[in-house]
Amino acid sequence: MPDLKAAVLPVTQFQQNCAFLWDEGTKDALIIDPGGEVPRILAAIDQLGVRVTKILLTHGHIDHAGGAAELRDELATRAAPDPAPPIEGPDPRDAFLLDGLEDQAANYGFEGIRNVRPDRWLTEGEAITLGEHRFDVVHCPGHTPGHIVFVNHAAHFAVLGDVLFQGSIGRTDFAYGDPAALLTAIKTKLLTLPDDFVFLCGHGPGSSIGAERVSNPFLR
Ligand SMILES: [Zn+2]
Repeated sequence: MPDLKAAVLPVTQFQQNCAFLWDEGTKDALIIDPGGEVPRILAAIDQLGVRVTKILLTHGHIDHAGGAAELRDELATRAAPDPAPPIEGPDPRDAFLLDGLEDQAANYGFEGIRNVRPDRWLTEGEAITLGEHRFDVVHCPGHTPGHIVFVNHAAHFAVLGDVLFQGSIGRTDFAYGDPAALLTAIKTKLLTLPDDFVFLCGHGPGSSIGAERVSNPFLR
């Protein structure tokens, strides 16, 4: 997939990987999980010279979703009189987290955060397109109830949020966490992908399905 490009920008004190996916031919772009530091995200958009067509959210945690409303408003100002790019995802089972972003902000010391409602919820079986590139929406609950990931079968590429990391998996020690559901989702929906599938994740470096299959201590 020579035209499909990807980059990450770590944002917030949690060093969350805001992901940029774009088509080098059309310069259309998807922004996944703009958790904060929106001015830096806008500078990166300018540096890449891309036009954002959608803002996507994998789940409702503040380091992933905290900057979504601000980014949408900033892009709306730039796009006027055209409409702002929509915010899409996560699965509606994370609505309580997006409705509680201001409470999460108070707990973690984030400032200027607003609750956000996506323009469209995303559920398993739906797909996001970026020009000719298709990203299937896969529901992977456990870290949060409504966590989704984006899988591009043609490019053997995925964006996994806080489900699977290099050498680790998402934490499940929240009141709503479900470790059994997380392991089931990883084993039935991610480890079934080919070994050469590469992925970006919410924190730290990306990896491949094959590497995690053989070396991730949480999947033994
Ligand atoms: Zn999270």
